[in-house]
Amino acid sequence: MLDLAIVGATAVTPSGARPADVGVAAGRIAQIAPPGKLEPATRTIDARAMLLLPGAVDPHTHLDAEMFNTSTIDDFESGTVAAAAGGVTTIVDYAFQAPGGTLDQALEKWRAKAAGKAIIDYGFHIALLDPSPEAIAEIPRAVERGVTSFKIFMMQGFEARARDYLRAFKVAGESGALLTIHAEDEHLIGFCTERLLAAGMNGVAHFGASRPPLSESAAVARALAMTELANAPAYFVHLSSGDAIAEIRRARTDGRIVLAETRPIYLYLTEERFLEPDGAKYVGYPPLRDAANRDAIWTALADGTVDVVATDHCSWKLDRKLAADRFTRIVPGMSNLETLVPMLYSEGVAKGRISLSRMVELVATNPAKIFGMYPQKGAIVEQADADLVIFDPKRKVVIKSREMHSRADYDPFEGFEITGWPTMTLSRGETLITDRKEGGDTLVTDRNEPARRGRGEFIRRARFSPSWRTMHDPT
Ligand SMILES: [Zn+2]
Repeated sequence: MLDLAIVGATAVTPSGARPADVGVAAGRIAQIAPPGKLEPATRTIDARAMLLLPGAVDPHTHLDAEMFNTSTIDDFESGTVAAAAGGVTTIVDYAFQAPGGTLDQALEKWRAKAAGKAIIDYGFHIALLDPSPEAIAEIPRAVERGVTSFKIFMMQGFEARARDYLRAFKVAGESGALLTIHAEDEHLIGFCTERLLAAGMNGVAHFGASRPPLSESAAVARALAMTELANAPAYFVHLSSGDAIAEIRRARTDGRIVLAETRPIYLYLTEERFLEPDGAKYVGYPPLRDAANRDAIWTALADGTVDVVATDHCSWKLDRKLAADRFTRIVPGMSNLETLVPMLYSEGVAKGRISLSRMVELVATNPAKIFGMYPQKGAIVEQADADLVIFDPKRKVVIKSREMHSRADYDPFEGFEITGWPTMTLSRGETLITDRKEGGDTLVTDRNEPARRGRGEFIRRARFSPSWRTMHDPT
C-alpha cells in the first residue's frame, strides 16, 4: 500500500514529459506508472491539468550570512520557507571560513544556523577565504564528511595569495572536490572603481562601469589556467556576460571539464535598472548587463553551455540596500528563491526559449548531479526522495513582495506578470506548501499547520564525478 498517489499530472522524468502517476511510500518515490496503473494508496492527490516536477535544487544560497558588518535578512527558517513556497526542496548554502579560522569551525557554525530552522534538506559548501596550510590540510576531511565543494572569491585578496590558492586547488582536485569560483578580476575592478570615484561618480548609475564584462571574462580565463595547472574541476558561479560564456565554450572545446551557472537577474533584468531612483536594490556582483549580454546568457541556457540556474539568494531590507553613500558600499545580492522556478517557467518555457525538460535539468537534475546528490535529489525516478512539486502551468501571478515569504521587503521582479506557479510542494513525501492564495499565506500543510521547523536534514554529498553528464537514473 502506497502512502500517497499523485494522479493525472504530466510528470517530467529523465525520459521526458509524459502522463504518469507517481506513488510515494516512506518518503520516497515508490512507483512511477502509466495513468491508472498505480498500486492502491492511503491518500490520493488529483493533479489533472498540472505538471509534476522534481523539487528544485538551488546550489547557491546565502542564508544568515554575515557580510558588510551585518547579516542577510533571511535565516534558515524564512529562507527555506520561501524556497519551498516556490518549489525548491534542496539548497546548498555557503559556510564562510572566518579569517584565521578553520574549515571545521565554519561547518559547525553553519550547522548551528540550520539546525532547528530549515524546513527543507540542505548541504554546505565551504567558502575558502584563508587558504592557510592548516585550512588546506582540512580539505580532505571536509570532503569525507560530505562537504565536497569549495568557493573561491577572486575579487578581493585573491591575487596576493594566488600561490596559496593553487595549493588549495591541487588538494581539492585530489580529494574529489569541486571548486566553485566567483570570477571577477580584483585589479580590473579596482582600476575602474578608483577612476570613477576620483571623478566623483559615486552613484549606483556607475556601478556597472566599475565591473565591466571584461573583468569577468579575464577572471574566468585566469581561473581556467590555474585550475588546469592544479588539475582541479572548476564550476563558475553566476556568469553574467557573453565574453565569459565564450571562455567556457573555448575551454570545453579544449576538452576541459568546466561547469557554468547563471542566476535569474541576468535573465530578466538589464543595466537600465541602475538608473532608477532606487536602483541600488538591483546591485549584486557582477552587475546587471546590457540586452546583448542577457541574450547571450539565454542562448547559453538553451544550447547547454550553462548547466545550472541558481539564485545566489542573499536578501536585505530595502532601507539597508539604499543606505550606502557610494556604489562600493551597497550590500550585494537580493531575494529570489521563491521565484526561481516560476520565473524560469514563465520567461523560459512558456515563451519558448527553453523546453520544459531543459528547465528541469537547469534547476534540479544538473545541480543534483554536479553537487553529488543524484539520484537522491533532482529527478523523478523510483527510490529518489519524494521531493515533488505540483505546478499549475496556467496560473497567472503578479509578483508582489508582500506575498513572498522572504523577510526582504522588496522583490527584484516586482510587478512581473507571469504564467505558472507551484500549487503544492512535497519534501520526502510530506506536504510543505499547498494552495497559494492571493495576498495570503501559503505555509499550510495537509495537516493544516505550518511545516515543522528543523525538519530539513543535512545532506552528505558525494564527491564530484567528472562523468556527471552521463550519469543515468537507476531505473
Ligand atoms: Zn553567492
